[in-house]
Amino acid sequence: MCGIVGYIGPQQAAPICLSGLKRMEYRGYDSAGLCILQDGTLHIGKKAGKVAEMEREVDVAAMTGTIGIGHTRWATHGVPNDVNAHPHSDASGAIALVHNGIIENYLTIKKKLLHAGYAFVSDTDSEVLAVFIGMLYDQLHDFELAVRTALSEVEGTFGVVVMSAHDPDMLIAARRGSPLLLGVGQNEYVIASDASAVISHTRQVVYLHENEMAIVTRHDGFHTKTIHNEETHSVVEQIEFELDAIEKSGFDHFMLKEIYEQPNTFHDGFRGRLLVDEGNVRLGGLQAVADKLKHARRIIITACGTSWHAGLAGEYIIEQLAKIPVEVEYASEFRYRDPIIYSDDIVIAISQSGETADTLAAIREAKRKGATVIGFVNVVGSTIARETDAGVYLHAGPEIGVASTKAFTSQLCVLTQFALYMGRMRDLDARTGKEIAAGLAALPSLIHRCLEQGPAVQAIALAYAKATNFLYLGRGVNFPAALEGALKLKEISYIHAEGYPAAEMKHGPIALIDENMPVVFIAPKDEIYDKVISNIQEVRARNGTVIAIASEDDTSIDAVADHVIRIPETLPILTPVLASIPLQLLAYYIAVERGCNVDMPRNLAKSVTVE
Ligand code: GLU
Repeated sequence: MCGIVGYIGPQQAAPICLSGLKRMEYRGYDSAGLCILQDGTLHIGKKAGKVAEMEREVDVAAMTGTIGIGHTRWATHGVPNDVNAHPHSDASGAIALVHNGIIENYLTIKKKLLHAGYAFVSDTDSEVLAVFIGMLYDQLHDFELAVRTALSEVEGTFGVVVMSAHDPDMLIAARRGSPLLLGVGQNEYVIASDASAVISHTRQVVYLHENEMAIVTRHDGFHTKTIHNEETHSVVEQIEFELDAIEKSGFDHFMLKEIYEQPNTFHDGFRGRLLVDEGNVRLGGLQAVADKLKHARRIIITACGTSWHAGLAGEYIIEQLAKIPVEVEYASEFRYRDPIIYSDDIVIAISQSGETADTLAAIREAKRKGATVIGFVNVVGSTIARETDAGVYLHAGPEIGVASTKAFTSQLCVLTQFALYMGRMRDLDARTGKEIAAGLAALPSLIHRCLEQGPAVQAIALAYAKATNFLYLGRGVNFPAALEGALKLKEISYIHAEGYPAAEMKHGPIALIDENMPVVFIAPKDEIYDKVISNIQEVRARNGTVIAIASEDDTSIDAVADHVIRIPETLPILTPVLASIPLQLLAYYIAVERGCNVDMPRNLAKSVTVE
């Protein structure tokens, strides 16, 4: 969510900050801005809307200077308008900052500052922090001390980069609950909230820790300390992905590119882990908690959005293979309802970004209550990856499209491997283990075959792009896939869509069915196939249109469905992976046909780092 960038070095800062902001556009935002130190004075240009709009309004080329900061805002306090956009400056205009997160006690601080005679131009919490730092600077005459003092008094979350005309060769970055990393180049530094904004300059990065700040200077390098002034030891790490992983590579949209990457990303999710001959998996990241897993009596999966859908599919898969009860919780609910957690519980957090604020809060609650917490996240070095006792990376590569596609199937990949690992640790026999492992190993080529259905799915999408409602139905482990299919359509095409267990339809949603209601059924040839066919008949009897996702060799379904999209045969627990591919394509093509901004849908953010 939102983006921060900062630059100090020998080059012009404005174009570097600008390209960093463009790289982070995918995260979702509503305003953009820059601040450059030029001839001893801070120059701020900012605008509500997209970065391109800011570029049209602000003469960025005229903002010359070799130190600067930039921001894409996702409004929390104050509407998205020009004034509320970041950077914000203090009363003197000599100190400016960009901020991600929420200053929870901003009203208390604001009142004190108002009382002391300071005025504000925006409605944001972030401006309060800027003015507060400015006031402290006036008293202390020490930039670093002023920033540190302010940050130790604020409550809430921040990723922040501060610059000052008083200290023209210094940037100060700090974080609490919002990601921030420092790219270390040749005599230059790029600070950003996302590695994608740094990678074209350097691969060497320092991930800031909670309550840590980096003091970055033009001539004396950088050093890190806590906001309470304790020196910290920073480790320079390497960004693992390549630049083309965050470019469109000839595809019209990142989302389409990411859909088509799935044979590879799925494969990357089990490479080096799957032991087909032994019917098992090696999950090195869980080694440290293997004993706890073996003796666990319950698993609680906590996640939000698409990751929650993956978790729900995980419940079916883990219970089937490992015979251990699983509960799936919305992280946002779990954290606030004083959940009952036992010390032999395993809590699994699933998050693409590893920064989801609600999920992070949920695992902190679980840890506080003594559970073993593991994370299934995509972004290496993310907060959830660091705060969990153990974990498994998804290895899906950077996901830029706001609507998750490849990360979802990689989550299913990791969850299935986890289920197999737990099962084999308990009672699952080697023969079944081998079947599952072989089934997983075959999926990349089967996903490829699903992708070949692209043109057929596109034709269906064109026919229904004007629909105003959709129902998605599936049973068993395909019910979460139906939920995810509906979510994809909602997210990127703004068509209202609901996912339901197919048999549940008759308890309510059936009232909605008429000739204007397309109903997508996930109906593979499995042991409940006949029941699903009955549900299809119920829809047909009420003039609904049926789009069926069916097994490749199922010809009888043609008689009851208006449209059939074929997926290859696989093990029942693996069908959600294959069913998801045409559902992603259906949502994508409908959204394109409706002229929607597929990669950056309105109001959505890629990683939701606020509660
Ligand atoms: N709370 C700040 C604001 O509303 C920062 C939001 C963000 O993270 O972009 O301006």
